[in-house]
Amino acid sequence: SESDDRLSAFSKSGIYRFDDANAFFVDPVRVLNRCYTRFRVSPSAYYSRFFPSSIFSTGNYNNVPKNSGKRKRREKEKKKSQALNLREQMADRRHQEVRVALLKAHEALLGASQVLETLRNLRDDVEERGGDSILRENELDFVGLGSVWQAPFYEIVLKVNEDEAAVENAGGESYYQKVVPLFETHVANEASNDMEAELLDHKYILPKNSCFYMSDLRQIHNLIPAESDCGFNLILIDPPWENSSAHQKLKYPTLPNRYFLSLPIKQLTHTAGALVALWVTNREKLRNFVENELFPKWGVKYATTFYWLKVKADGSLISELDLFHHRPYECLLLGFSHGKEMNSEQLLRPNHLPDNQVFISVPGDYSRKPPIGEILLDYVPGFKHARCIELFSREMIAGWTSWGNEPLHFQDSKYFLKY
Ligand code: SAH
Repeated sequence: SESDDRLSAFSKSGIYRFDDANAFFVDPVRVLNRCYTRFRVSPSAYYSRFFPSSIFSTGNYNNVPKNSGKRKRREKEKKKSQALNLREQMADRRHQEVRVALLKAHEALLGASQVLETLRNLRDDVEERGGDSILRENELDFVGLGSVWQAPFYEIVLKVNEDEAAVENAGGESYYQKVVPLFETHVANEASNDMEAELLDHKYILPKNSCFYMSDLRQIHNLIPAESDCGFNLILIDPPWENSSAHQKLKYPTLPNRYFLSLPIKQLTHTAGALVALWVTNREKLRNFVENELFPKWGVKYATTFYWLKVKADGSLISELDLFHHRPYECLLLGFSHGKEMNSEQLLRPNHLPDNQVFISVPGDYSRKPPIGEILLDYVPGFKHARCIELFSREMIAGWTSWGNEPLHFQDSKYFLKY
């Protein structure tokens, strides 16, 4: 039947499109797995936050004690909502505008029983039961390593395969070691297989056909292409916005908004133009900053917004849709950066960008975004051979350049399983 076909397509691609809503369901693990040949992403490592294994194994998922702090917060919000200030009113208006689209997307998910069934089992992985190596070792702190005086001396050892065919066939591994500086260096895996790399007793898995440049913001100009036609057609950015979450402060450093004004978006843009995709938080003040200062400064023309709706393993939203300060969704603002070529705006749009597109997934680690680059590729100038870059990245993707002060973060072998 048609729904079986779709489901089997989903099990390969990790993307399920709901026809009746302007929405997708995304399984990041399946999407990411397409970047790898010998390794695969560990579902239990990816989904550790919203599939707490202990709760699952005892089967009382619904009996989790209600957190009274949450209830208090809710009451406080209720009181507050009776007197919204001007900024809050604007935020509420934005929310009301997208509310219907979000509800429709969520209904589509709840109505698709087979997708829900898959959703429930996303974390299940027979092989892992028992010998789970995850969380055994600490991760390297790249932000820390990059900020000491020895930083220029750190090196990463790449295990470059000599014979691609041998890797594909018997997994016969013959490789040579290539030693390169870890920081402020373009490190690439140009092969069509994933590559292992070693650094200070830690192992990293680099996806096929991918590249990273690890540095502080001060060195970002090194990404600007020397030749003018070598820029990027898709620029995905998830800046370390400041916010008040104490948890977030422990996870990575943040920067005041004015630092992002100087990101060289124009210089990174391909002559044929670029689709720029920017993750923002739900703070109204930030939305205003982006629309009135940041996009104009970058020369980016706003086009539309996509929404990431976050669900739990049972398909329910991670928080109430109308909770003012804890929305169960995040926004991805999309705009176009003009290239130097004439009429690049027409060249730009192989497909018309739809409004209010929603993608639904179960969140991974704190502030980790689902890999939706592929969904965006449909709307990218020069999309067949699009050159893609992610700024402030914590992972690598096949076909992409990743820049940030810790682009190897989620490449740690602890997040992977071997086939
Ligand atoms: N999109 C990522 C999350 C990005 S969080 C994901 O899905 O996982 C923002 C990132 O910006 C963090 O990795 C943080 O360490 C990095 N960052 C903060 N200050 C930076 C600076 N001055 N230079 C480079 N990267 C920085």
